[in-house]
Amino acid sequence: MPPSADVVIIGAGIVGSSIAFHLTAAGVKNVLVIERETRQGLGSTGKSMGGVRAQFATDVNIRMSLYSIPFLNRFEESTGYPSGYKPHGYLFMATNQGHIDYLRTNFARQQALGLKSIQWLQPDDIRKVLPQLRSDDIIGGTLCPTDGFVDPNSVMTGFMARAVELGATLWRGTEVTGIDVENGAVTGVKTTNGSISTRTVVNAAGPWAAGVARMAGAELPIEPLRRMLVPTEPFPGLPERLPMIIDMSTGWHFRQEGLGLIMAWADPEQQPGFRTDFDPTFIEKILTFAANRVPSFAELAVNPRRCWAGMYEMSPDHHSILGPAPGLRGLFFANGFSGHGVMHSPATGRILSDLILHGKTDIIDAETLSVRRFAEGRAIEETAVL
Ligand SMILES: Cc1cc2nc3c(=O)[nH]c(=O)nc-3n(C[C@H](O)[C@H](O)[C@H](O)COP(=O)(O)OP(=O)(O)OC[C@H]3O[C@@H](n4cnc5c(N)ncnc54)[C@H](O)[C@@H]3O)c2cc1C
Repeated sequence: MPPSADVVIIGAGIVGSSIAFHLTAAGVKNVLVIERETRQGLGSTGKSMGGVRAQFATDVNIRMSLYSIPFLNRFEESTGYPSGYKPHGYLFMATNQGHIDYLRTNFARQQALGLKSIQWLQPDDIRKVLPQLRSDDIIGGTLCPTDGFVDPNSVMTGFMARAVELGATLWRGTEVTGIDVENGAVTGVKTTNGSISTRTVVNAAGPWAAGVARMAGAELPIEPLRRMLVPTEPFPGLPERLPMIIDMSTGWHFRQEGLGLIMAWADPEQQPGFRTDFDPTFIEKILTFAANRVPSFAELAVNPRRCWAGMYEMSPDHHSILGPAPGLRGLFFANGFSGHGVMHSPATGRILSDLILHGKTDIIDAETLSVRRFAEGRAIEETAVL
């Protein structure tokens, strides 16, 4: 007889770790997490910018954040480990009436769902946040002070360490190579470390999720998309505390990191694919946006060797895909976060634990994020993707 587990989680990134935590906290003892790398964090989680925000455009994403951000704030009480949560805010800056209308709609939706701290800013308020801004074309914006940053590695390892204390097992350096299915139900997984018998498998394989789903004969519409980040050398004269600042005219955004900045921009020319090499020509593109919005940033220095790239796991409507695989008992998806997997990892862990144990959850309407939405014409576009 092969060894058995109540639940096998494939992937020990922040999502698999949160699910392991939530399952063990709910009383499941025999949870096995399988990670092919010899340490955690070598997938998308270790490449993340660590941003957390509730400023989304759809109800379901706002609700995911309204569960997750307070959870990250009290992370240490729940897990015993720090999350590094810094409530420095996210500031969206509008430069045309279309942006203003968009932000006003989102603002009303966010407030209606209970985000009380969101603020509407006038151009003068924005200038106070960063006096060096070129603000002649800025006509308003929104700031949510409970948005901010966490340390993704700390959250991931905190979730996993607590899960292990509660009885979960983590196998590192072990790849899942197959998912066994009999009569429409999962019966086990094959790994480079032998077979495991189980009736419940969770796909938490990040950008590799579509390939893992195919092991069980399931289709999952997820594509990896390279995403590059540019840290700068220390830069004098910045305010002590800055929010994530998003220039809606270009999509360029940045936050403080140590004495310098980390800058990001979604290059529309980037094509899907498994690429994590950093393209040095990206530095000039991003510095152009930076100097255009903050003239003194023309002096920013960047060491190309400190820049990096990782992969977003993109779904067709930029929402995660959560819950059971249709027509296949025992396979669950926790995939397709489209750039939001760190900030939504707490809600995801809770939702997956609820769905596995009880078949329902009260965090969101789980049908909204079911993979069936694509076949049934219920995709819900998230436009606030950075
Ligand atoms: C540059 C960049 C910036 C980002 N910024 C943010 C941000 O500011 N805020 C935010 O919320 N999100 C951000 N994201 C997105 C976020 O990082 C991801 O959504 C999140 O990390 C996904 O976590 P995961 O656990 O699903 O995937 P991963 O961290 O990729 O973990 C998946 C794990 O599965 C393992 N695996 C895969 N296949 C197998 C197999 N067959 N057998 C065993 N193990 C397997 C992999 O080795 C990997 O460790 C960013 C991403 C990038 C690339």
